[in-house]
Amino acid sequence: MLSFNQKIVTYSPAYTLVPTYECFNRCSYCNFRVEPGSHPWMTLAEAENILLPLKNQNVCEILILSGEVHPLSSRREAWFGLIYDLCALALSMGFLPHTNAGPLSFAEMQKLKNVNVSMGLMLEQLTPKLLNTVHRHAPSKLPQLRLQQLQWAGELQIPFTTGLLLGIGETEDDWWETLAAISDLHHRYQHIQEVILQPHSPGSQQIFDAEAFNPLQLPEVIAKAREILPADITIQIPPNLIKDEGWLLACLDAGARDLGGISPKDEVNPDYPHLQEQRLREILQPAGWELRPRLPVYNQFNSWLVEELAATVRNR
Ligand code: SF4
Repeated sequence: MLSFNQKIVTYSPAYTLVPTYECFNRCSYCNFRVEPGSHPWMTLAEAENILLPLKNQNVCEILILSGEVHPLSSRREAWFGLIYDLCALALSMGFLPHTNAGPLSFAEMQKLKNVNVSMGLMLEQLTPKLLNTVHRHAPSKLPQLRLQQLQWAGELQIPFTTGLLLGIGETEDDWWETLAAISDLHHRYQHIQEVILQPHSPGSQQIFDAEAFNPLQLPEVIAKAREILPADITIQIPPNLIKDEGWLLACLDAGARDLGGISPKDEVNPDYPHLQEQRLREILQPAGWELRPRLPVYNQFNSWLVEELAATVRNR
Protein backbone atom coordinates (compact mmCIF):
# COMPACT_ATOMS: atom_id res chain seq x y z
CA MET A 1 0.00 0.00 0.00
CA LEU A 2 1.22 3.50 -0.81
CA SER A 3 2.05 5.90 1.96
CA PHE A 4 -0.53 8.65 2.07
CA ASN A 5 2.26 11.25 2.03
CA GLN A 6 3.71 10.09 -1.29
CA LYS A 7 2.45 12.23 -4.15
CA ILE A 8 1.34 9.28 -6.25
CA VAL A 9 -1.95 9.04 -8.08
CA THR A 10 -3.01 5.88 -9.89
CA TYR A 11 -5.17 4.99 -12.87
CA SER A 12 -6.15 1.77 -14.60
CA PRO A 13 -5.31 1.46 -18.32
CA ALA A 14 -8.66 0.11 -19.46
CA TYR A 15 -11.04 -0.58 -22.29
CA THR A 16 -14.82 -0.74 -21.86
CA LEU A 17 -16.93 -3.43 -23.53
CA VAL A 18 -20.68 -2.84 -23.50
CA PRO A 19 -22.64 -6.11 -23.93
CA THR A 20 -25.83 -4.05 -24.29
CA TYR A 21 -26.92 -0.47 -23.82
CA GLU A 22 -30.50 -1.60 -23.19
CA CYS A 23 -31.76 -1.10 -19.67
CA PHE A 24 -35.10 -1.68 -18.00
CA ASN A 25 -34.46 1.25 -15.65
CA ARG A 26 -35.01 4.81 -16.74
CA CYS A 27 -32.91 6.99 -14.45
CA SER A 28 -33.66 10.52 -15.53
CA TYR A 29 -29.96 11.53 -15.58
CA CYS A 30 -28.97 8.61 -17.85
CA ASN A 31 -26.89 9.20 -20.98
CA PHE A 32 -26.27 5.50 -21.66
CA ARG A 33 -29.46 3.50 -22.08
CA VAL A 34 -31.49 2.49 -25.11
CA GLU A 35 -34.95 0.89 -25.07
CA PRO A 36 -34.97 -2.89 -24.44
CA GLY A 37 -35.01 -4.82 -27.71
CA SER A 38 -34.12 -1.78 -29.84
CA HIS A 39 -30.43 -2.56 -30.42
CA PRO A 40 -28.55 -5.84 -30.98
CA TRP A 41 -26.27 -7.09 -28.22
CA MET A 42 -22.51 -7.32 -28.69
CA THR A 43 -21.39 -10.69 -30.05
CA LEU A 44 -18.32 -12.60 -28.90
CA ALA A 45 -16.84 -12.28 -32.40
CA GLU A 46 -17.20 -8.49 -32.24
CA ALA A 47 -15.60 -8.45 -28.81
CA GLU A 48 -12.69 -10.58 -30.00
CA ASN A 49 -12.09 -8.18 -32.90
CA ILE A 50 -11.97 -5.27 -30.47
CA LEU A 51 -9.75 -7.05 -27.95
CA LEU A 52 -7.14 -8.51 -30.32
CA PRO A 53 -5.40 -5.21 -31.20
CA LEU A 54 -5.52 -4.14 -27.53
CA LYS A 55 -3.12 -6.97 -26.65
CA ASN A 56 -0.26 -4.86 -28.02
CA GLN A 57 -1.38 -1.69 -26.33
CA ASN A 58 -1.12 -0.44 -22.81
CA VAL A 59 -4.46 -1.99 -21.73
CA CYS A 60 -4.86 -4.26 -18.73
CA GLU A 61 -8.44 -3.93 -17.44
CA ILE A 62 -11.46 -4.86 -19.51
CA LEU A 63 -14.47 -3.17 -17.94
CA ILE A 64 -17.64 -5.06 -18.81
CA LEU A 65 -20.26 -2.33 -18.40
CA SER A 66 -23.83 -3.29 -19.16
CA GLY A 67 -27.35 -1.98 -19.11
CA GLU A 68 -29.70 -4.22 -17.15
CA VAL A 69 -32.16 -6.88 -18.25
CA HIS A 70 -34.95 -7.39 -15.69
CA PRO A 71 -34.21 -10.28 -13.27
CA LEU A 72 -37.52 -11.94 -14.20
CA SER A 73 -37.16 -11.47 -17.98
CA SER A 74 -36.94 -14.57 -20.17
CA ARG A 75 -33.79 -12.94 -21.66
CA ARG A 76 -31.99 -12.61 -18.33
CA GLU A 77 -30.18 -15.95 -18.67
CA ALA A 78 -28.88 -15.09 -22.16
CA TRP A 79 -27.83 -11.63 -20.94
CA PHE A 80 -25.95 -13.06 -17.98
CA GLY A 81 -24.40 -15.75 -20.20
CA LEU A 82 -23.09 -13.09 -22.58
CA ILE A 83 -21.51 -11.13 -19.74
CA TYR A 84 -19.88 -14.28 -18.38
CA ASP A 85 -18.59 -15.27 -21.83
CA LEU A 86 -17.17 -11.79 -22.49
CA CYS A 87 -15.28 -11.94 -19.19
CA ALA A 88 -13.98 -15.43 -20.00
CA LEU A 89 -12.89 -14.29 -23.46
CA ALA A 90 -11.04 -11.26 -22.10
CA LEU A 91 -9.39 -13.41 -19.45
CA SER A 92 -8.31 -16.05 -22.01
CA MET A 93 -6.56 -13.22 -23.90
CA GLY A 94 -4.61 -12.15 -20.82
CA PHE A 95 -6.74 -9.16 -19.76
CA LEU A 96 -8.17 -8.63 -16.27
CA PRO A 97 -11.99 -8.33 -16.32
CA HIS A 98 -14.01 -6.11 -13.99
CA THR A 99 -17.81 -6.24 -14.35
CA ASN A 100 -20.36 -3.58 -13.48
CA ALA A 101 -23.79 -4.75 -14.66
CA GLY A 102 -26.23 -3.58 -12.00
CA PRO A 103 -27.64 -5.70 -9.18
CA LEU A 104 -27.05 -9.43 -9.60
CA SER A 105 -28.37 -12.47 -7.78
CA PHE A 106 -26.06 -14.12 -5.24
CA ALA A 107 -25.59 -17.05 -7.65
CA GLU A 108 -24.74 -14.70 -10.54
CA MET A 109 -22.14 -12.90 -8.43
CA GLN A 110 -20.70 -16.23 -7.33
CA LYS A 111 -20.27 -17.30 -10.97
CA LEU A 112 -18.74 -13.99 -12.05
CA LYS A 113 -16.17 -14.21 -9.25
CA ASN A 114 -14.53 -16.97 -11.32
CA VAL A 115 -13.87 -14.63 -14.26
CA ASN A 116 -13.48 -11.21 -12.62
CA VAL A 117 -10.60 -9.86 -10.54
CA SER A 118 -12.98 -7.29 -9.06
CA MET A 119 -16.49 -6.02 -9.58
CA GLY A 120 -18.37 -2.80 -9.06
CA LEU A 121 -21.69 -1.17 -8.40
CA MET A 122 -22.32 2.46 -7.53
CA LEU A 123 -24.32 2.78 -4.34
CA GLU A 124 -25.10 6.33 -5.58
CA GLN A 125 -27.11 7.51 -2.57
CA LEU A 126 -28.86 5.62 0.20
CA THR A 127 -31.69 8.07 0.65
CA PRO A 128 -35.05 6.64 -0.51
CA LYS A 129 -36.18 10.19 -1.45
CA LEU A 130 -34.65 9.74 -4.90
CA LEU A 131 -37.15 6.97 -5.65
CA ASN A 132 -39.69 9.77 -6.02
CA THR A 133 -37.51 11.85 -8.33
CA VAL A 134 -34.58 10.74 -10.53
CA HIS A 135 -35.19 7.04 -9.77
CA ARG A 136 -38.98 7.07 -10.07
CA HIS A 137 -38.76 4.70 -13.04
CA ALA A 138 -35.68 2.77 -11.96
CA PRO A 139 -36.71 -0.32 -9.97
CA SER A 140 -33.14 -1.54 -9.47
CA LYS A 141 -32.13 1.70 -7.78
CA LEU A 142 -33.65 0.55 -4.49
CA PRO A 143 -31.00 1.56 -1.94
CA GLN A 144 -31.39 -1.60 0.14
CA LEU A 145 -30.99 -3.81 -2.93
CA ARG A 146 -27.73 -2.09 -3.79
CA LEU A 147 -26.46 -2.22 -0.24
CA GLN A 148 -27.16 -5.94 -0.28
CA GLN A 149 -24.88 -6.28 -3.33
CA LEU A 150 -22.03 -4.79 -1.33
CA GLN A 151 -22.76 -7.23 1.48
CA TRP A 152 -22.84 -10.23 -0.87
CA ALA A 153 -19.57 -9.11 -2.46
CA GLY A 154 -18.09 -9.14 1.03
CA GLU A 155 -19.46 -12.60 1.83
CA LEU A 156 -18.12 -13.89 -1.49
CA GLN A 157 -14.74 -12.18 -1.03
CA ILE A 158 -15.03 -10.18 -4.26
CA PRO A 159 -12.83 -7.05 -4.29
CA PHE A 160 -15.31 -4.28 -4.91
CA THR A 161 -15.56 -0.73 -6.22
CA THR A 162 -18.53 1.42 -5.30
CA GLY A 163 -19.26 5.10 -5.12
CA LEU A 164 -21.56 8.08 -4.81
CA LEU A 165 -23.20 10.07 -7.56
CA LEU A 166 -23.22 13.67 -6.31
CA GLY A 167 -25.78 16.29 -7.25
CA ILE A 168 -28.88 14.28 -8.16
CA GLY A 169 -31.15 15.81 -5.56
CA GLU A 170 -29.64 14.56 -2.31
CA THR A 171 -28.49 16.58 0.71
CA GLU A 172 -25.05 16.81 2.28
CA ASP A 173 -26.22 14.63 5.19
CA ASP A 174 -27.19 11.99 2.63
CA TRP A 175 -23.55 11.85 1.47
CA TRP A 176 -22.22 11.21 4.95
CA GLU A 177 -24.89 8.57 5.60
CA THR A 178 -23.99 6.74 2.38
CA LEU A 179 -20.27 6.91 3.12
CA ALA A 180 -20.87 5.64 6.65
CA ALA A 181 -22.81 2.65 5.29
CA ILE A 182 -19.92 1.77 2.95
CA SER A 183 -17.51 2.15 5.82
CA ASP A 184 -19.57 -0.18 8.07
CA LEU A 185 -19.66 -2.91 5.43
CA HIS A 186 -15.93 -2.57 4.81
CA HIS A 187 -15.24 -2.97 8.51
CA ARG A 188 -17.12 -6.28 8.36
CA TYR A 189 -15.61 -7.69 5.17
CA GLN A 190 -12.51 -5.57 4.22
CA HIS A 191 -13.51 -5.86 0.56
CA ILE A 192 -14.01 -2.30 -0.74
CA GLN A 193 -10.98 -1.21 -2.73
CA GLU A 194 -12.23 2.11 -4.05
CA VAL A 195 -15.01 4.62 -3.55
CA ILE A 196 -15.74 6.83 -6.56
CA LEU A 197 -17.01 10.36 -5.96
CA GLN A 198 -18.71 11.16 -9.26
CA PRO A 199 -20.07 14.67 -9.82
CA HIS A 200 -23.32 14.80 -11.80
CA SER A 201 -22.37 16.16 -15.21
CA PRO A 202 -25.30 16.86 -17.54
CA GLY A 203 -25.18 15.07 -20.86
CA SER A 204 -26.95 15.53 -24.17
CA GLN A 205 -29.32 12.55 -23.78
CA GLN A 206 -30.62 13.01 -20.24
CA ILE A 207 -33.99 14.44 -19.26
CA PHE A 208 -33.00 15.40 -15.70
CA ASP A 209 -32.85 19.18 -15.80
CA ALA A 210 -30.28 20.18 -13.20
CA GLU A 211 -26.97 21.97 -13.05
CA ALA A 212 -23.71 20.07 -12.94
CA PHE A 213 -22.45 19.35 -9.43
CA ASN A 214 -20.35 22.35 -8.42
CA PRO A 215 -16.73 21.18 -8.90
CA LEU A 216 -15.58 23.76 -6.39
CA GLN A 217 -17.34 21.73 -3.70
CA LEU A 218 -15.64 18.46 -4.58
CA PRO A 219 -12.40 18.91 -2.57
CA GLU A 220 -14.47 19.59 0.54
CA VAL A 221 -16.52 16.40 -0.01
CA ILE A 222 -13.33 14.39 -0.60
CA ALA A 223 -11.75 15.70 2.60
CA LYS A 224 -14.80 14.70 4.65
CA ALA A 225 -15.05 11.33 2.87
CA ARG A 226 -11.41 10.73 3.74
CA GLU A 227 -12.32 11.20 7.40
CA ILE A 228 -15.29 8.83 7.21
CA LEU A 229 -13.81 6.03 5.10
CA PRO A 230 -11.21 3.58 6.42
CA ALA A 231 -7.66 4.42 5.28
CA ASP A 232 -7.35 1.30 3.11
CA ILE A 233 -10.17 2.44 0.79
CA THR A 234 -8.88 4.62 -2.03
CA ILE A 235 -10.93 7.61 -3.12
CA GLN A 236 -11.35 7.76 -6.89
CA ILE A 237 -12.40 10.76 -8.98
CA PRO A 238 -13.13 10.89 -12.72
CA PRO A 239 -10.79 13.57 -14.14
CA ASN A 240 -12.88 14.11 -17.28
CA LEU A 241 -15.76 15.37 -15.10
CA ILE A 242 -13.62 17.95 -13.30
CA LYS A 243 -13.16 20.60 -15.93
CA ASP A 244 -10.71 22.85 -14.19
CA GLU A 245 -7.13 21.56 -13.84
CA GLY A 246 -6.61 23.55 -10.66
CA TRP A 247 -9.57 21.84 -9.08
CA LEU A 248 -8.33 18.43 -10.15
CA LEU A 249 -5.15 19.17 -8.21
CA ALA A 250 -7.24 20.47 -5.30
CA CYS A 251 -9.10 17.13 -5.28
CA LEU A 252 -5.79 15.29 -4.96
CA ASP A 253 -4.65 17.61 -2.19
CA ALA A 254 -7.94 16.83 -0.41
CA GLY A 255 -7.26 13.08 -0.47
CA ALA A 256 -8.28 11.56 -3.83
CA ARG A 257 -5.61 9.13 -5.02
CA ASP A 258 -7.02 7.35 -8.08
CA LEU A 259 -8.37 8.47 -11.45
CA GLY A 260 -10.17 5.23 -12.33
CA GLY A 261 -10.14 3.39 -15.62
CA ILE A 262 -8.85 5.53 -18.49
CA SER A 263 -10.20 4.18 -21.77
CA PRO A 264 -10.86 5.77 -25.19
CA LYS A 265 -14.48 6.61 -24.26
CA ASP A 266 -16.38 7.27 -21.04
CA GLU A 267 -19.48 5.21 -21.87
CA VAL A 268 -21.50 6.56 -18.94
CA ASN A 269 -20.65 10.21 -19.72
CA PRO A 270 -20.11 10.18 -23.50
CA ASP A 271 -20.19 13.99 -23.67
CA TYR A 272 -17.03 14.16 -21.54
CA PRO A 273 -14.00 12.61 -23.28
CA HIS A 274 -11.38 11.05 -21.02
CA LEU A 275 -8.15 12.97 -20.60
CA GLN A 276 -5.54 10.56 -21.89
CA GLU A 277 -2.42 9.58 -19.99
CA GLN A 278 -0.06 12.11 -21.56
CA ARG A 279 -2.40 15.03 -20.86
CA LEU A 280 -2.89 13.90 -17.28
CA ARG A 281 0.87 13.76 -16.76
CA GLU A 282 1.20 17.30 -18.11
CA ILE A 283 -1.27 18.49 -15.47
CA LEU A 284 0.04 16.40 -12.60
CA GLN A 285 3.82 16.47 -12.95
CA PRO A 286 4.36 20.24 -12.54
CA ALA A 287 2.50 19.97 -9.24
CA GLY A 288 4.76 17.14 -8.10
CA TRP A 289 2.31 14.26 -8.65
CA GLU A 290 3.46 10.99 -10.19
CA LEU A 291 0.86 9.19 -12.31
CA ARG A 292 1.16 5.41 -12.00
CA PRO A 293 -0.76 2.64 -13.76
CA ARG A 294 -2.38 0.02 -11.52
CA LEU A 295 -4.22 -3.26 -11.95
CA PRO A 296 -8.02 -3.46 -11.48
CA VAL A 297 -7.36 -5.50 -8.34
CA TYR A 298 -5.26 -4.30 -5.43
CA ASN A 299 -2.42 -6.50 -4.14
CA GLN A 300 -4.03 -7.19 -0.78
CA PHE A 301 -6.83 -9.14 -2.50
CA ASN A 302 -4.68 -11.56 -4.53
CA SER A 303 -5.37 -14.45 -2.14
CA TRP A 304 -9.14 -14.10 -2.82
CA LEU A 305 -8.72 -14.81 -6.55
CA VAL A 306 -9.35 -18.19 -8.17
CA GLU A 307 -6.15 -19.68 -9.58
CA GLU A 308 -6.69 -18.71 -13.24
CA LEU A 309 -7.20 -15.09 -12.25
CA ALA A 310 -4.31 -15.14 -9.80
CA ALA A 311 -2.02 -16.54 -12.50
CA THR A 312 -3.07 -13.82 -14.98
CA VAL A 313 -2.42 -11.16 -12.32
CA ARG A 314 1.06 -12.63 -11.71
CA ASN A 315 1.82 -12.30 -15.44
CA ARG A 316 0.94 -8.63 -15.45
S1 SF4 B 1 -28.15 5.02 -15.21
FE1 SF4 B 1 -27.70 2.83 -15.41
S2 SF4 B 1 -29.44 1.83 -14.37
FE2 SF4 B 1 -30.06 3.95 -14.81
S3 SF4 B 1 -31.11 3.80 -16.82
FE3 SF4 B 1 -28.96 4.32 -17.20
S4 SF4 B 1 -27.98 2.36 -17.59
FE4 SF4 B 1 -29.92 1.94 -16.56
